[in-house]
Amino acid sequence: MPEILDLARNQVLERGVGLDEEGVLAVLRLPDEHISGALQLAHEVRMRWCGPEVEVEGIVSLKTGGCPEDCHFCSQSGLFTSPVRSVWLDIPSLVEAAKQTAATGATEFCIVAAVRGPDERLMKQMREGVAAIKAAVDIQVAASLGMLSQSQVDELVEMGVHRYNHNLETCRSYFANVVTTHTWEERWDTLRMVRDSGMEVCCGGILGLGESIEQRAEFAAQLAALDPHEVPLNFLNPRPGTPLGDRPVVDGKDALRAIAAFRLAMPRTILRYAGGREITLGDLGTRDGLLGGINAVIVGNYLTTLGRPAEEDLALLDDLKMPVKALSATL
Ligand code: SF4
Repeated sequence: MPEILDLARNQVLERGVGLDEEGVLAVLRLPDEHISGALQLAHEVRMRWCGPEVEVEGIVSLKTGGCPEDCHFCSQSGLFTSPVRSVWLDIPSLVEAAKQTAATGATEFCIVAAVRGPDERLMKQMREGVAAIKAAVDIQVAASLGMLSQSQVDELVEMGVHRYNHNLETCRSYFANVVTTHTWEERWDTLRMVRDSGMEVCCGGILGLGESIEQRAEFAAQLAALDPHEVPLNFLNPRPGTPLGDRPVVDGKDALRAIAAFRLAMPRTILRYAGGREITLGDLGTRDGLLGGINAVIVGNYLTTLGRPAEEDLALLDDLKMPVKALSATL
């Protein structure tokens, strides 16, 4: 057994203290023959500190495409030639999407908009949309609307938005290679205000943007320092027309190492499989991840790419004897 896994067993599994940057790096560098041992340990950590429940979430795009920012992985940027055009969803469609999400057994419904930050029009849509959802559907509402001002944070709390997603995307030292229209620190400021407001913080990122293994470890450590309630872990699904459209996908074994390493860095967080798992790991990878530290999934489609049908994921959870987290347990 490699030394790092012994250390993780004592420190993370027994005491619930996550690995530091150096420890994460050691997991990311484990030889192939120790990947299954790392995943097994990450699974034990998840069962011990989070339990067997899996949180299921649906996402809907309130405003798609036409974003003024230049995140190099994103097909919703209006600055690239990617084929996603600006579209707004109306309130009845938003409510219908929330109903469909609730029907899958999901407890979370996240409203997403491709913007630098919300303008008055978007905040008005949110006010009306969240109220309409709350009147019609029993589900928790989360939001992801870019960078916020303090008054917008306060307003979202007032509306009853319980969790806010804002991804740091990658580590601080690599961020400027991926985004030039705003800074890592600006994202961090929003996260700090969200945390102070009492909303749950959801913050993760994308692996495979060209960052080094060391920078992957740096990212895990920076996320752990933020201590988010939830971490969505994406793997780059290169989108045609974006500056990262030609990047290779993350090697499946590296993706599994990363899943184990991020869980060992953050024993208590909700670690969610988000986009890119299908092309990086294939169908089998979903099972491997859920037995390797992942305890939340997004059902149905992602924002600009198709995911697996919800029924397949729910059948898999049933097969693995992992109950879907119930709404009553989260309210
Ligand atoms: S990641 Fe968000 S902020 Fe960046 S271009 Fe895409 S929609 Fe805009």
